[in-house]
Amino acid sequence: MPTNHTIVVLPGDGIGPEIMDQAVKVLKAVEKRFDTTFTLEYGAIGGAGIDEAGVPLPDKTLALAKRVKVILLGSVGDYKYDTLDPKIRPEQGLLQIRKALGLFANLRPVKAYQALLHTSTLKPEIIDGIDMLIVRELTGGLYFGEPKIRTETNAVDSMTYNVEEIDRITRVAFDAAMKRGKRLCSVDKANVLKTSQLWRDKVERIAKDYPDVDLSHMYVDNAAMQLVRNPKQFDVMLTGNTFGDILSDEASMLTGSLGMLPSASMGATGGYAIYEPSHGSAPDIAKQNKANPIAQILSVAMLLEYSLDMPQAARAIEQAIADTLAAGKRTVDIAEPGSTIIGTTEMGDAIAEQVLSAQLQTV
Ligand code: NAD
Repeated sequence: MPTNHTIVVLPGDGIGPEIMDQAVKVLKAVEKRFDTTFTLEYGAIGGAGIDEAGVPLPDKTLALAKRVKVILLGSVGDYKYDTLDPKIRPEQGLLQIRKALGLFANLRPVKAYQALLHTSTLKPEIIDGIDMLIVRELTGGLYFGEPKIRTETNAVDSMTYNVEEIDRITRVAFDAAMKRGKRLCSVDKANVLKTSQLWRDKVERIAKDYPDVDLSHMYVDNAAMQLVRNPKQFDVMLTGNTFGDILSDEASMLTGSLGMLPSASMGATGGYAIYEPSHGSAPDIAKQNKANPIAQILSVAMLLEYSLDMPQAARAIEQAIADTLAAGKRTVDIAEPGSTIIGTTEMGDAIAEQVLSAQLQTV
């Protein structure tokens, strides 16, 4: 009997539904190749939630997410909601679901594809071979610390972290490092910030539970410089909320396009997780068959690896993407002279076919 897994699918707005269709094609290919079946339960979020139920996160969607736990999300937002009160705009749906599910860890892998080395703004030899994971704390630090005060002449934001918050994100990073290259670089500003001093002390203490992981610390200003100087030195990078926000956007440009970057937001081990592309809903190119579906498809690979314990299926998808790109197929955002420009649907078809044909080669 094949194992069955249920996944919540929230396509969202803009390019969300069209790139999600490609992700579902790839899941169907995984079903055929591996001894498994997927039950997909669809829900509305963002603008789609507003259209369906008047709110960006309908109760029905949240109940579904809580029941199933494993969520594949597209993206939210569209110009047509720009005039709404910010409190009920599509983007609130994302913040609300992350908060409701207690998702405190954001995992963003950054990988250079051989075929795309020339689409980055950095020299090919600098990015060739990059394979790193940024683990960013998502629910604490400067963005959420109290007090937050704004007067006519003064403003205060508070950077706060407690040991529980540091402990749980640090363990996610060490666990990830154990499954990868066993190297962890913790980023802070411990020469200036009290929160960073507590952070560094706590990380040092937790490191004793992971003797196989090589731990280093780096000040955030140096980390920003090292990311463009020699990004290959990193395996897993652990950051607080604000530092991770900035460094992960910097790192995204190493791969050449936003359309290539997946992410996972996770709660406690074995709990809830949302997998989604790092980009937004790109309303400027929606419904034109122009969007790159690879970040969404890579989000499926992360889901299979982290939530469903199917690392082989994840590797098969990554290989299928690498092979499709190596064959010269490109969506317009990653096109270069000599490549064949194809649409969203054709890219989805090509990657799904590659997942299947790889099976034929191994049988
Ligand atoms: P965006 O990421 O949607 O787009 C930025 C640029 O990148 C655009 O030119 C777009 O066409 C391009 N792009 C993005 N994804 C692409 C893909 N897969 N293939 C090819 N090109 C791609 O950011 P934005 O324009 O600032 O925001 C658009 C909407 O998305 C807004 O409503 C914003 O609030 C929302 N947004 C949502 C999320 C999310 O759902 N997680 C994240 C960021 C922004």
